Amino acid sequence: MHSKHFDIAIVGQGIAGTLMAYFLQKYGKRILVIDNNFEGASSKVAAGIVNPITGKNFVKSWGVDDFLPIARDIYTQIGNELGIETFTIANIIRSLGSVEDENNWLSRTADQNVMEYVQPFADTSEFENKVSKPFGYGEIKGSFQVHLGEILDAFKQKWQEENVYFETKFDYEALQILQPNFCYKNYTFSEIVFCEGYQAIHNPYFLNIGMGPSKGEVLIVKIPGAEFRKMYKDKIFIIHLYDDIYWVGSGYEWDMPDDKPTQKAFVTLSNELKRVLLIPYEIVDHQAAIRPTMHARRPVFKVHKEIQGMYLFNGLGTKGSSIGPYAASKFARYIVEKNPNDLVI
Ligand SMILES: Cc1cc2nc3c(=O)[nH]c(=O)nc-3n(C[C@H](O)[C@H](O)[C@H](O)COP(=O)(O)OP(=O)(O)OC[C@H]3O[C@@H](n4cnc5c(N)ncnc54)[C@H](O)[C@@H]3O)c2cc1C
Repeated sequence: MHSKHFDIAIVGQGIAGTLMAYFLQKYGKRILVIDNNFEGASSKVAAGIVNPITGKNFVKSWGVDDFLPIARDIYTQIGNELGIETFTIANIIRSLGSVEDENNWLSRTADQNVMEYVQPFADTSEFENKVSKPFGYGEIKGSFQVHLGEILDAFKQKWQEENVYFETKFDYEALQILQPNFCYKNYTFSEIVFCEGYQAIHNPYFLNIGMGPSKGEVLIVKIPGAEFRKMYKDKIFIIHLYDDIYWVGSGYEWDMPDDKPTQKAFVTLSNELKRVLLIPYEIVDHQAAIRPTMHARRPVFKVHKEIQGMYLFNGLGTKGSSIGPYAASKFARYIVEKNPNDLVI
């Protein structure tokens, strides 16, 4: 049997691999996407929140002024091309727990640097009598929620139709390096980009990339009649998914034996939910995933030092939805044009 040749293989179809493959295809590259369709992938469990103002001091997230306009443009473009809704614009209502929080927030409303993301008065009417009243509220604008699951599914379907999608667990030992080409089972390709999320810890070609994976757990909750359309942030986030179904999450666990949901996180999340929600609800699912967080908290673009045409794109951490489009577009351009300036983010 003849092998089929591609320009570039992409291993991993989370949001990193999806965007990388999308940009490379835009450059006219013949791509092959390899993914094991793992239901617990970070991109499938994430809420896709893009939040420009974070932390206790309500400061701008790293790079938001660069990342957010590109993210909005790229997701809009993808939505138009695939005929899906890729994101929902929704402000974030942030509960303020103390006088100190409120003072901090008020100082931000007058701060030129963050003003464009801060609503002078929080409109919390849709939450009235439905959540327990905190000390105060702030409202963040410029935020949105990316529909990561729908984006991944739509691309998977497109690439399956184009016959460029191979659903399998990539076996590193089966990769033959026959420079200038690679051979994997019935496929050959000139270059390969690894985008395996936290599972990159098993990649023998890129060791010690500085990953410190963190686990997050989530409850999927039915809240009949809640009609929350803004995102609500207390100690937990409550995010509308569809109909009466909401995403509630999520904590950070750094010392975890596996990627499975735990009783401990279930208790923590459900206690928080009980504290925050005043109306009836039903927990319908409990999910967990491991984020590809880096010690340096920055995405990584790696070019293999000895094996020509081998790359790794990873480290989207807690913010794949916002950083992904900018980072993937830069690294894809590097792979095509080899301009070292594109290796800096
Ligand atoms: C609970 C939780 C909540 C989050 N909330 C948000 C949020 O609100 N906003 C936000 O921006 N980010 C959020 N994140 C972070 C976000 O999920 C990540 O930044 C992003 O999804 C990482 O994408 P990725 O493609 O690098 O990794 P992944 O999504 O893990 O994708 C990697 C893919 O590669 C596949 N793969 C790995 N190894 C192999 C192999 N050998 N063979 C074949 N396939 C392989 C995996 O199965 C998977 O499909 C959250 C994460 C978690 C866990």
